Amino acid sequence: MPIHDPIFEAAEGIYQVRIPLPFALNIVNCYLLRDRGGWTIVDTGLNRPESQTVWAAAFDALRIKPASIRRIVLTHMHPDHYGLAGWLQRQSPHCPPVVMSPIEWNAAQRTWINRDGLDDRLWQHLTRCGLPSDLIAAAVEVGRNMTMMTAPHPERVETLEPGSSIEIGSRVFRTIHAPGHSDGQLLLYCADDGLMISGDHVLMKITPNIGVWQDTPPQPLRQFLDSLRFLRQLDVSLALPGHKTVITNWAGRIDELLAHHDQRLAAVAGAVGDGATVYQVSQQIFDYTRLTNHEIRFAIAETLAHLLHLQAEGRLTCDDGDTWRFEPVR
Ligand SMILES: [Zn+2]
Repeated sequence: MPIHDPIFEAAEGIYQVRIPLPFALNIVNCYLLRDRGGWTIVDTGLNRPESQTVWAAAFDALRIKPASIRRIVLTHMHPDHYGLAGWLQRQSPHCPPVVMSPIEWNAAQRTWINRDGLDDRLWQHLTRCGLPSDLIAAAVEVGRNMTMMTAPHPERVETLEPGSSIEIGSRVFRTIHAPGHSDGQLLLYCADDGLMISGDHVLMKITPNIGVWQDTPPQPLRQFLDSLRFLRQLDVSLALPGHKTVITNWAGRIDELLAHHDQRLAAVAGAVGDGATVYQVSQQIFDYTRLTNHEIRFAIAETLAHLLHLQAEGRLTCDDGDTWRFEPVR
């Protein structure tokens, strides 16, 4: 039932709050869950005035006093999910905890808070990918700008392990580790209601970005595909994702994502000539004339994830010099 655009009741006692983003992907879905004695927030948006305005409207429409926020749960540490957590926490005099997995909290500290050597590692990583230096400089700049939209950082963080139970209102959710898009992403699954808060792991209309970045553990694509196959078996009648529309055909959408990556792996394998750099392969997969500097980073990361997957399967070799060069195994 619509309450107040851009807020709607997505499931009983769960309101989706659509926070605008300054990208082609122009909305992040956040959630307000009616809780015992207050409210739980899931995901937050980037810290920009536009986001704060929508949260204020949501609180107003649902008559929520900031002091009644019990906790702020983050599915993962990407800036569109993490960015406003510290600001929201400060709206309440009680400093409600920001809750996320230990892996994501480590990544958030490394990427948004300490940033020790981060730009150098990104520069080195993109050099290995064969990206020209003007595009590397632009990518580093995008990363710095993104960091500014994640402050202030949470003052109080509680970590939540995969496989934990978390009670929100009358529902009990189990946390499920769903790596691939982000190493430590947690989904929240309420088996009794067949309800999944699916973060950016399963999305309609777009495929979650699976990328290898400067600090990514090996084989995120393998982890993502394995995780999808596990999640497909769960009974899910409604999934509430981090972007785009809610998901009512859980297994069907997962099948489409699995098929997409099969096709993408075939396309990447077909694009690898002798001694191809990640940049060269990515130019055959993505139309660079249409990509912003923000999106070029994703194109490189996604191409590399597929290349490393093919290498692990023995279909490609990689010359590990200053610049990675891939070749088909004949
Ligand atoms: Zn997202």
